[in-house]
Amino acid sequence: MNRIKMPKHVKFIIEMLENNGFEAYAVGGCVRDAILGREPNDWDITTSAMPDEVKKLFRRTIDTGIKHGTVTVMIDKKGYEVTTYRIDGEYQDGRHPLHVEFTRNLIEDLKRRDFTINAMAYNDREGIVDIFGGVRDLKDGIIRCVGNPADRFSEDALRILRAVRFSASLGFRIDDNTCRAIEELAVNLEKISRERIQAELEKLLMSDNPDRLKAAYELGITTVVFREIDRIAAENELTEVLSLVKLMPKEHFLRWSAVLSRAGKDKAANILRDFKFDNKTVNVVSRIIGEIGRPLPQTRGLVRRDIYEIGEDIYEIYLTFMEVYLPFYYAKAGQSDCMKETLANVKKEYNDIIEKGDCISLKALAVNGKDLMEAGLARGEQVGGALKRLLYVVLENNDLNRKEILLEMLDVTKY
Ligand code: ATP
Ligand code: MG
Repeated sequence: MNRIKMPKHVKFIIEMLENNGFEAYAVGGCVRDAILGREPNDWDITTSAMPDEVKKLFRRTIDTGIKHGTVTVMIDKKGYEVTTYRIDGEYQDGRHPLHVEFTRNLIEDLKRRDFTINAMAYNDREGIVDIFGGVRDLKDGIIRCVGNPADRFSEDALRILRAVRFSASLGFRIDDNTCRAIEELAVNLEKISRERIQAELEKLLMSDNPDRLKAAYELGITTVVFREIDRIAAENELTEVLSLVKLMPKEHFLRWSAVLSRAGKDKAANILRDFKFDNKTVNVVSRIIGEIGRPLPQTRGLVRRDIYEIGEDIYEIYLTFMEVYLPFYYAKAGQSDCMKETLANVKKEYNDIIEKGDCISLKALAVNGKDLMEAGLARGEQVGGALKRLLYVVLENNDLNRKEILLEMLDVTKY
């Protein structure tokens, strides 16, 4: 019997349920990942106990999704989702099950799951419960629907995108029948909420194989949920853009900046808003994209100006992006080494500027609006303009950031 090493809290929950006459198993992604020797994100538990029966057995529980049979059991401040075996009813517009039905039969619960590799259960008593050939598909590297693919995608179209997402995160291929059903039904993704699509795209982009987005294009998925990809493909640039995405560190802002690098600032912002991303994502990613094409600063003074103009808040991540982006595109011209050298220098200057606390903002300028007014400048526009000009002087030469020097310069420029 194959053994999986479960965390002690998971074992405790399963044994508690078993000792009270119920069945309980670790199920889904955690079993898949454990068999692959990967660290599972979270351990989900499936049980024959009804939600109120689960709640009676544990001291601290939270009703996370009680209607769908999910109770979160808290142990040592960590939460574990315990879900009652369930049969999903008819799906409403390919979105949510209209109602769920609880069952005491594990097999029924496994049947509702999306892919064979996600439909296995495990406990120490029974070992791996694998009725759809999930272990075999894991070994062969195949994403295959549980049951009839067309039926399963018609019930919930998000599974279409999940197939590609798992193919990207695991490096698996998608079974032929499953592929055919995807092509046939991809248009149903229209009915899925942008938030659910965003969550799957995020996992796809942050995986080891974000270039599998190409499969989503070829299967007709992106034309429904991510048009920009089809636009890049029409310009014959999809392969290149996806290679860039793959080279980027696995970081949210960087990978979205890379995949949208051809969209331009405003369009990128619109696409991200349409995916219902948070304001910070929209802001950071579109600003990074807006800086593509900007020449690298060659002196310390120009680095300070760069930090001011691009924004201190994103400068570091902007540099990290450029460390991948510039050598990638300059490689063709045989200039990527020289590019890397310049970048290393910018980074060194940047770190030193931050460490030494050079002035890189109006806030750090040795004079403020009040000083300038006392020196005789009128309010408003004049003061604002003068402050900015003085700041640019200081960005170029930090030694000039002293009140008497700056006020004296003000005289010279005669307002
Ligand atoms: P990850 O490691 O990314 O969390 P996961 O397999 O745990 O992957 P989840 O989205 O957390 O994926 O879902 C947990 C389990 O619930 C899946 O393994 C699968 O068995 C089932 N599942 C999730 N979403 C669906 C769906 N849309 N249709 C059918 N089963 C699903
Ligand atoms: Mg999960």
